[in-house]
Amino acid sequence: MEKFRALVVDKKDEETTMDIREIGMDDLSEGEVTIKVAYSSVNYKDGMVAVKGSIAETFPIIPGIDLAGTVMSSEDDRFKEGDEVIATSYHIGTRHSGGFSEVARVPSEWVVPLPEGLSLKESMELGTAGFTAALCIQRLEENGLEPGPGKVLVDGASGGVGSLAINMLADRGYSVVASTGRTEEAEYLKSLGADTVIHRDEVTDEDGKSTRKRQWKAAVDPVGGKTLQYILSSLDYGGSVATCGLAGGIEVETTVLPFISRGINWLGIDSVKYPMEHRLKVWDRLADDLKPSALETHIAYEATLEELPDTLNDILKGHVRGRVIVKF
Ligand code: NDP
Repeated sequence: MEKFRALVVDKKDEETTMDIREIGMDDLSEGEVTIKVAYSSVNYKDGMVAVKGSIAETFPIIPGIDLAGTVMSSEDDRFKEGDEVIATSYHIGTRHSGGFSEVARVPSEWVVPLPEGLSLKESMELGTAGFTAALCIQRLEENGLEPGPGKVLVDGASGGVGSLAINMLADRGYSVVASTGRTEEAEYLKSLGADTVIHRDEVTDEDGKSTRKRQWKAAVDPVGGKTLQYILSSLDYGGSVATCGLAGGIEVETTVLPFISRGINWLGIDSVKYPMEHRLKVWDRLADDLKPSALETHIAYEATLEELPDTLNDILKGHVRGRVIVKF
């Protein structure tokens, strides 16, 4: 393929622009594996790169932190032409040309063979959001979470991480409370398995209390900020919160009190530098016991490359429901 299409983001004099261009192999970053991209997906981080010109360390850049497709050529013997693969995270779409392109080229250390039990399409319906939701649940369970009495809170519920976490937890038999700013999405959230849907204002800390009524045995938190403050103050004894995002803010005020009087755990989740050895195991689980039952029926939508700019703007405004994948 001499020429192919990609979404290119540029930033000059603090102005960020994005447009769809015909580009060639020389426009891609270096790497051992060249991939004919079948699907990519839209994550919050892509909106930050493409709309705000933040996070990315170099411009112009092709955003898209997720991609899945078929190997066209490889300088690493571990991969050969025709192999179906996934590449997410590391510097993809932030420092290295990413998935919003018909062709991608990445270092072989970032490439994951498509696990048995997942199609390329499903792998992107999950994407970094699904990987992160799975990591949250894995870490919560490593810290003692198990089905049974008690509720698990998921905030940012209508978004990618939130929707997938709700569905994965419900499939595993947990009782899930979904917190959202969009209560009009209550039926959608219940269709994923949420028992109860509450407005995010009910779990936003406005009075600075460091302990309050114990309500959750665990929480998945893509929102951060004052919502996380509320969660820390209201976890049950020995409960854990998995913090993975900042959609609602980065600053958190708390005290030692819930930690030393309730033994709570504040778990940090990072998908970007998560080591490959463990990354492969999480993808295997996403193809197996953590594969969400409502992935294709309720959570994921398809967009074209031409529709991407609108979707990238929408995700920053909190207007995207579930997951959007891009088909090439
Ligand atoms: P989405 O945009 O799909 O979902 C975010 C959701 O957060 C929105 O749908 C909305 O849900 C809620 N939200 C948005 N703005 C606010 C606000 N101001 N206050 C409170 N809630 C808000 O994004 P993703 O699910 O893809 O990502 C969520 C977060 O997780 C992002 O911050 C992202 O950067 C981070 N992330 C981190 C990763 C890591 O490795 N740590 C990996 C992947 C994502 P609702 O309308 O239902 O309230």
